[in-house]
Amino acid sequence: MDTRSSKAPVYFCPMHSDVREPGPGKCPKCGMSLLPEGTRFAIIRHMISNPVHLGIMATVMLAVMAAAMIMMMRVPPPFPQ
Ligand SMILES: [Zn+2]
Repeated sequence: MDTRSSKAPVYFCPMHSDVREPGPGKCPKCGMSLLPEGTRFAIIRHMISNPVHLGIMATVMLAVMAAAMIMMMRVPPPFPQ
């Protein structure tokens, strides 16, 4: 049975939500394989299977953690003078 509707599936890059293609292919920004829309677990598999995306994730996480630590050190005590 054909469950497809008249609307074709959209493929996207999990790292670039603005990259959307009407079919499977490569992201023009990072070169990773595009994923069909609505596949959450496939995104995780995609992340794990692509060292470039893992590197991007690790870099972003480290940057966020460093920024949070700097902000915590700079924030004054929460009581007024
Ligand atoms: Zn991408």
